Amino acid sequence: MARNLLVTRVQPVIVWFRDDLRLSDHPALQEAASRGAPVIGLYVRDEQSRALKPPAARPLGGATRWWLAHSLRALGKSFEAIGGTLVLRTGPAASVIATLARETNAGAVFWNDIAQAPHQAIAGDVESALASDGVVSKIFPGDLLVDPQAIRNKDNRGLRVFTPFWRRVQGLGDPPKPLPAPKKLTSVSGIASEALDEWKLEPTQPDWAGGLRESWTPGEAGAQARLKAFLDDGIEGYANDRDRPDHDGTSRLSPHLRFGEISPRQLWHAARFVAAEHPRLAGDIDKFLSELGWREFCRHLLFDVPDLAKRNLQEQFDDFPWKRDARALKAWQRGLTGYPIVDAGMRELWHSGVMHNRVRMVVASFLVKHLLIDWRAGEQWFWDTLVDADAGSNPANWQWVAGSGADAAPYFRVFNPILQGEKFDPDGGYVRRWVPELAQLPDDLIHQPWTATPIELASADVELGKTYPRPIVDHKQGRERALAAYAKIRGKG
Ligand code: FAD
Repeated sequence: MARNLLVTRVQPVIVWFRDDLRLSDHPALQEAASRGAPVIGLYVRDEQSRALKPPAARPLGGATRWWLAHSLRALGKSFEAIGGTLVLRTGPAASVIATLARETNAGAVFWNDIAQAPHQAIAGDVESALASDGVVSKIFPGDLLVDPQAIRNKDNRGLRVFTPFWRRVQGLGDPPKPLPAPKKLTSVSGIASEALDEWKLEPTQPDWAGGLRESWTPGEAGAQARLKAFLDDGIEGYANDRDRPDHDGTSRLSPHLRFGEISPRQLWHAARFVAAEHPRLAGDIDKFLSELGWREFCRHLLFDVPDLAKRNLQEQFDDFPWKRDARALKAWQRGLTGYPIVDAGMRELWHSGVMHNRVRMVVASFLVKHLLIDWRAGEQWFWDTLVDADAGSNPANWQWVAGSGADAAPYFRVFNPILQGEKFDPDGGYVRRWVPELAQLPDDLIHQPWTATPIELASADVELGKTYPRPIVDHKQGRERALAAYAKIRGKG
């Protein structure tokens, strides 16, 4: 596109969108709109610089690619509704953005920070490319409550224990109030954009995304609706209910947060407002915000440890005698381990792109401890199948469960999948939903079908080894084997 076609009296501003696919509480967009300049929204599909720059940003998994397609479609519509355009381009961000700035005679490019090394490295290249063309770059606070640089210990390192970390965050007081969405944008017409469908982010052959479509409404409007529904109806009892996979007791906001369709400070202020209006909910709200604190903690950790998905934070785990067991890994991935709570979780994940937090802990512990499979194999499977797959929360939680991480559960604490099922899914509702072949078993057998008598099995239409597998490892033996493996590394490092 020739430069002079698009010369306007006021130079346009490009707003570069990344994991902040929303219009409200978007500091870069807000600043661009408030200048009265024409605004060009841009999303760059940049697989090149992601791959080239060490440390590389991870390519999206299948489920997050699906989410991204829908989220971009929603963002494009919201942009149009206020008179703007969202431009889609592919290529290394630095050259794509510098080229678009030249084409449109843009005077400035604004974006929100992502406090992750690969994203900051790519943004650094963008800044240099623009500077050499005399285009201004301006970077705004990102998608965290607090900049990781603001919470350091005396050795200038991020905190590795959650409770003091969260105390420090809370000690900083309320984060700034969220910004409103711009009401109207002045657009620039005639800018070439790629077609989203040609990016082929959604699966076609086979189309495995039916369950995702059933479960989610990606986009800012969907995120706001979910927050409102949760604060209106779901927050009461959250502190207890959040551990019950058979209840609808959590916000289900994680994929929306992952893609920045809603910001953590929007959550913070909305929740605090509800606590002020309804003091009896204060305990539930505090618990909810502390979960948001875990997201923050994981992201701060990632800021300090960019290779969090690859490296054991506790080095003695480098010598851990992991087993290579492709069959067991496959049985776990498919929800065919013979442990109903584990299988229910893995099937929920495959169908809907998420899994309840309590069950994530159980299935992760089962993989790492009962099957002795390296946490990185499980982390990678989650990375590919979760719609909320997050570069901080996913590896940090896997390392937490494995015992190799920050503020981690000790390795010797091995979750018992039978007791976990009985405690957190006492009526078996969660298992019945996701493992329908066990649905007719009575409550006292549903978490351990192998203890049922032949008559009990027959009357529930269950044939162990045929309609549902026998346990791939005995719980007691698995536990002992895990402890023996751990004994080999204890005290090392
Ligand atoms: P709510 O209970 O409503 O919590 C509100 C928000 O707090 C969540 O949306 C999430 O952003 C944050 N949050 C809650 N628990 C945690 C936690 N333990 N760690 C970090 N943030 C938390 N969460 C992800 O967002 N992405 C991941 O890739 C991810 N991988 C995980 C892997 C394992 C092995 C485990 C044990 C947990 C993982 N989690 C991950 C954390 C947690 O399971 C999800 O955030 C939660 O289930 C999302 O549901 P919700 O939005 O209804 O949560």
